[in-house]
Amino acid sequence: MLEGKHLLLVEDERAIREMLAFSLQRAGFSVQAAEDVAAARRAVADRTPDLVILDWMLPDVSGIEYARSLKRDEATREIPIIMLTARGEEDDKVRGFEAGADDYITKPFSPRELVARIGAVLRRTAPGGAAEVVAFDQLVLDLAGHRVTANGTTVALGPTEYRLLSFFMTHPERVYSRSQLLDRVWGGNVYVEERTVDVHIRRLRKALEESDHAGLVQTVRGAGYRFSAQKD
Ligand code: CA
Repeated sequence: MLEGKHLLLVEDERAIREMLAFSLQRAGFSVQAAEDVAAARRAVADRTPDLVILDWMLPDVSGIEYARSLKRDEATREIPIIMLTARGEEDDKVRGFEAGADDYITKPFSPRELVARIGAVLRRTAPGGAAEVVAFDQLVLDLAGHRVTANGTTVALGPTEYRLLSFFMTHPERVYSRSQLLDRVWGGNVYVEERTVDVHIRRLRKALEESDHAGLVQTVRGAGYRFSAQKD
């Protein structure tokens, strides 16, 4: 599982570094913090992290260059990287991914969002494939048992709502359009109208209402839907 995973956090701004290290430790991770790339290199030599959270703007070497060097080195190539940046431009995002970042998060963000992204990246990149259990707050998806519980009680879901929720919980904090959801949840070959998605989203929210988790399934106006650990 995710708990006990060792993270390297590279961030030069002390207040952010300390706040994130505290939140990540509280989420159950072991965290090594570094204020620049020189310190990050020493930390990696000392203990290989399971994931690197890497600020873009650093005083010695830029985060993007350090990401490239991690990906060039066979010993560190497999370590997933999440880039942190104050910039939000598409160009930078593309450069980040080209340098080998597995995900990208724009400041300001909440520690909860970062924890959710870390979980998603670790699950996606885990050698054994996806985790069997995914949890947000008190909402728990048991993929092996094909079951969802909220506050310890089973949530009654139709088969489509279950597939929708399990897709969302394994792909959090991202917006999916109705047609993307049709492709990913219903399967591309099935002919279903886009408004069908809205119907099932409504049913899913209703099923999550009782345990107060309906707010995790969010409408993003003009774009689609997102599952987020930060309730609306
Ligand atoms: Ca910085």
